[in-house]
Amino acid sequence: MDFVRCCFVLLLLFFVCVNAVSPPNFVLIFADDLGFGDLGCYGHPSSLTPNLDRLAAGGLRFTDFYSTSPVCSPSRASLLTGRYQTRSGIFPGVLYPGSVGGLPLNETTIAEVLKPLGYATAAVGKWHLGLGPNGTFLPTKQGFDEFLGIPYSHDMGPCHNLTCFPPDVKCFGSCDLGTVLVPLLHNHVIKEQPVNFLELEQTYSDFSTSFIAASAKKKQPFFLYYPSHHTHYPQYAGPGTAGKTSRGPFGDSLLEFDHTVGKLLASLEASGVINNTLVFFTSDNGPSLIRMSRGGNAGALRCGKGTTYEGGMREPAIAFWPGTIKPGVTRELASTLDILPTIARLAGARVPPVAIDGVDMIEILQNHGKSKREAMMFYPYDPSEKLGLFALRLGKYKAHFYTRGSTLSSSTPDFECSALSVLKVHDPPLLYDLEADPSEHYPLATGGETDIPALLERIKKVKEQFEASMVFGESQIGKGSDPRLEPCCSPQCTPKPSCCRC
Ligand code: MG
Repeated sequence: MDFVRCCFVLLLLFFVCVNAVSPPNFVLIFADDLGFGDLGCYGHPSSLTPNLDRLAAGGLRFTDFYSTSPVCSPSRASLLTGRYQTRSGIFPGVLYPGSVGGLPLNETTIAEVLKPLGYATAAVGKWHLGLGPNGTFLPTKQGFDEFLGIPYSHDMGPCHNLTCFPPDVKCFGSCDLGTVLVPLLHNHVIKEQPVNFLELEQTYSDFSTSFIAASAKKKQPFFLYYPSHHTHYPQYAGPGTAGKTSRGPFGDSLLEFDHTVGKLLASLEASGVINNTLVFFTSDNGPSLIRMSRGGNAGALRCGKGTTYEGGMREPAIAFWPGTIKPGVTRELASTLDILPTIARLAGARVPPVAIDGVDMIEILQNHGKSKREAMMFYPYDPSEKLGLFALRLGKYKAHFYTRGSTLSSSTPDFECSALSVLKVHDPPLLYDLEADPSEHYPLATGGETDIPALLERIKKVKEQFEASMVFGESQIGKGSDPRLEPCCSPQCTPKPSCCRC
């Protein structure tokens, strides 16, 4: 009897131990062109974002969280590698359907960091880190077991399949002509061309929830990367949310995105893994203000997409992990760069032996503690070694060495945001106190409370030290485009690109 009892206790201890060391799961949700002021929980008066608001209410909401670029592809490169895009060569601008280059395969992504530990990994949504010859740069070549999604932005194709079909869906603007219709890929195979945009969120959420349920059933830790096409232009929503908000097309697309967040949370709950999963949400870059009321909103921040003002790169961000992360708000400085080191440390994985620009956020997440991040660097969409950093944030201060507007932020009454505002050199740099003046309206001047010469000296040192450590990678986007590389479900058909339809 004693022997049986002893065995039972040992067995129980074994299961408790196995459970206790079970590594956490990670769900990384990435919105597209969503601004600092777009969510209900960030103060937007008419957005409907009940699930993201729930995430914020039960998790940690960041006020000072940055992406590394004011446009899509470079921002994604940094998110997945923990390195500024200048190192991986994802510049200038973004990748296109026929781009020759992509995120170099020798870069180590979060998925590749987790794979040696036995994680199941899936990327679902917009990739935008390259396609290349024979799908060289697709997610399955970068540590993801599976990929379901669109390889680039959904306006990079003649999207009449989106805007005019079926007839009861309103048309909101045009997209790129002269390229193939936007495809939906599963791994490297074209599943639909054109993709059925109106069912896309359902397709993504079905796939994602199955992935979560299957991994949980197998007791396999998992990493789900969900970069949505929402709320990128052209904004639209499927039948479940079209016309359901007072904010119009942007509000509808945001609500559809929010529904998917709700489905992911429900799936984590139903699979019994929600208390062992870090859900992290943020966005790739600021709002596309050129779309006016159909674009996003940067709230109190200046300008938006395409610029190195706050509106271009400061993003909403939420970390959610019931039982581990206490609900609240943090004003600590953090970045998409910090997600890889954080995930690596939580999983007990090895950080790649290369220059990593991120620092782990463990202290912020677990104790609402201090950030290890002292500074944030701002590169324009077209960084160059010659000009270097456009701006640098050190503590609460931001110094602009160069400013420039952008077509993507034109339409606001603020001239400095528009494309007409050409490159300006600031020597000495334009200084702002982002806590007193988050809108970057009132440059600091000598004679005020701040010791400007001492501040400039500190900023200069940090800048010099950082730039001395920066090795620019070969520009991947500079390798150009070849129409023959555009994805086509019927490779031998003519005339291209219109015949690529299956
Ligand atoms: Mg974007």
